[in-house]
Amino acid sequence: MDLYSNLLLGFIVTLAIGLPSYKKKFVSFSGLFAGLVVGMLTFVGGPACFLVIMVFFLSSSILTKLGYHSKEVKGAAEKKSGRTALQVICAGGVAGVAAFLKGLYEARALIWPDPNQLSHVLTVAFLGAVSSANADTWAVELGLLSEEEPKLITNLKKKVPPGTSGGVTKLGTLGSFLGALLIAAVSAALYQHVSPPFEQMDPLAILIITFISGFTAEKIDSFLGATVQVKYWCPKCKKETDKKVHKCGSSTEYLRGIKIISNEAVNLISTLAGALLASCLYIALYD
Ligand SMILES: [Zn+2]
Repeated sequence: MDLYSNLLLGFIVTLAIGLPSYKKKFVSFSGLFAGLVVGMLTFVGGPACFLVIMVFFLSSSILTKLGYHSKEVKGAAEKKSGRTALQVICAGGVAGVAAFLKGLYEARALIWPDPNQLSHVLTVAFLGAVSSANADTWAVELGLLSEEEPKLITNLKKKVPPGTSGGVTKLGTLGSFLGALLIAAVSAALYQHVSPPFEQMDPLAILIITFISGFTAEKIDSFLGATVQVKYWCPKCKKETDKKVHKCGSSTEYLRGIKIISNEAVNLISTLAGALLASCLYIALYD
């Protein structure tokens, strides 16, 4: 199939999943549009890429709604209206671009000396990005269900409020482990058959690389969240927060961190780290 029919088919399939997701408030209206873009780009990478990113999207959306009320009480729930365009792009953008480049290359629109290498590297880059995004969402959403008080990843003696970036709990860490493992297992099952003329990839290599890159990138996400991510201070509640407007409704003051490094920016950096780590692991171990 050519590029344009893939984009059109991707649009139709993504819309068929996106509209009910918008109605269920998994995504906001802007998030629906961003999701259409990411979905179309991913579809160009082939049906296996699309299925893997759907596992991320649907499992993360369901986990977000799980125990929503108790997350709301903790003041750390996602917006009721669903994830915004910025959140969707920062979580899925790197994966979408990697899948799109893979599709372009396989459609012979990109030229590369080794016929298999770039296709395989882009495949694992895509998987590393999805795996890290999934590990992150699972860590946050499962962690919020934990009764345990989160501790800062850079100082495990310091307790932080639930939902604070850089805060870790045992349940959250289990979440990131399982989130990366789910994407790794689904991918290993799906990518056994790569369309000719490309060589089949070793399912065990896919399993190991996808899991390690996703789990590690999620730790990078927490570390950046605890160190460089911008933090605000609510003068009314006398509490530190990630948000410009606190849950109480007051606007907050700048406290520390780099101003442009928001939670979304950290997600973008960590999915990029997941993609790069997966590519490097593939080149180092299997190429
Ligand atoms: Zn407040």
